[in-house]
Amino acid sequence: MPEGDWRSILSSGAAALGIALESGHLAAFEAYRREILEWNQRINLTAITGDEEIAVKHFVDSIACLKAAEIPPRARLVDVGSGAGFPGIPLAILRPDLDLWLLDATRKKVEFLRHVTAALGIAAHTVWARAEDAGQRKDLRERFDVATARAVAPLGILAEYCLPLCRVGGRVLAMKGRYASAEVGAAMRAVRLLGGRVESVYEYELPFGAGTRAIPVIVKDKPTPRAYPRNAGTPAKKPL
Ligand code: SAM
Repeated sequence: MPEGDWRSILSSGAAALGIALESGHLAAFEAYRREILEWNQRINLTAITGDEEIAVKHFVDSIACLKAAEIPPRARLVDVGSGAGFPGIPLAILRPDLDLWLLDATRKKVEFLRHVTAALGIAAHTVWARAEDAGQRKDLRERFDVATARAVAPLGILAEYCLPLCRVGGRVLAMKGRYASAEVGAAMRAVRLLGGRVESVYEYELPFGAGTRAIPVIVKDKPTPRAYPRNAGTPAKKPL
């Protein structure tokens, strides 16, 4: 697909969500797409490789976080299970003021995240760790204004990964598919136990008929009890 066509898909897709992209953003997304496709030949970054699909299902979807909740200027944001960088890197392309931290348990993905943020000139911290271990680390626990995650775990488990990392008053943006409301119901108890409360659910349609999505927003009202997160693997094996 000619670059101009791809850029117009991306900018009209973002505009459908009420987000205006400038030419500098489009150039950064284009460079990011090239790096993903190149590295995807060597390591398994994504099954989505079509031009329109990358634009819509990865890039537009990621920036929908900006509509789900107000992210304060210079917020410290951790993207948990970032993989190829979603939603963290698209958010940083639009919001270079963010103090971005990209966390993933897979070493090769963290290598890619290090490479691509340097290539794009994004000042991000990368952390190779499981979220359960990160949540008990003194330098990371309760240090973030916002935690994002997409396609990492069901909401109750995700709450145990993300809420310990947020400061009181911080928020978790949990990117989900169309069945988010059922997940919210099932996760209510875990969210409360971890010091959180579901504040809102932002529902949206991806452009070009790519599907319905939702972002439950969890606000942290109280400190997370010290026992959480439990040891690596336990949240998924024994959900709260
Ligand atoms: N967020 C990206 C996206 O939406 O394309 C990647 C999603 S991928 C399906 C899930 C990612 O979460 C993988 O990169 C995996 O290594 C990471 N992951 C899963 N469990 C994790 C955990 N407990 N701690 C840190 N990373 C985890």
